[in-house]
This record gives sequence, C-alpha cells and structure tokens, in this order.
Amino acid sequence: MLNCPVCDAELDIEEEELDEGEVLICDECGAEARVVGVDPLELESAEEDEEEDEEFGEEEAEEDWK
Ligand SMILES: [Zn+2]
Repeated sequence: MLNCPVCDAELDIEEEELDEGEVLICDECGAEARVVGVDPLELESAEEDEEEDEEFGEEEAEEDWK
C-alpha cells in the first residue's frame, strides 16, 4: 500500500500501474506526490517544485561561474 508523503494517508493506487515521473493527488490532503522511482517504489511531495521555480534565478546565476 502506498502512503501520501505529506499526510501519510493510504493511497488507493495500484503500484503496478505507476510510472516514474507520474504525479498522484492525495485524496486526504490534496497534496501532489510524484513517483521518483518504481523499484523500489518511492514518492516525494511535488509541492516543493513550486519553491524551486522561485529560486530559478539563483540557479542561472550559478552557471555563470561554471
Ligand atoms: Zn496526503
């Protein structure tokens, strides 16, 4: 059984049907959970992506000194 990475609720999803990169929505808390690996199956909160977008300007600056 899969569990939401945010609220730990059980997700009613067939693990066999998941693909890496797929995004699930938790029925309990509404959080998005992305499949980061299928062997073993691993979920991570997709909410963090929004924060990364905000920091995108910093990542561009880093490339200047590479
Ligand atoms: Zn949840």
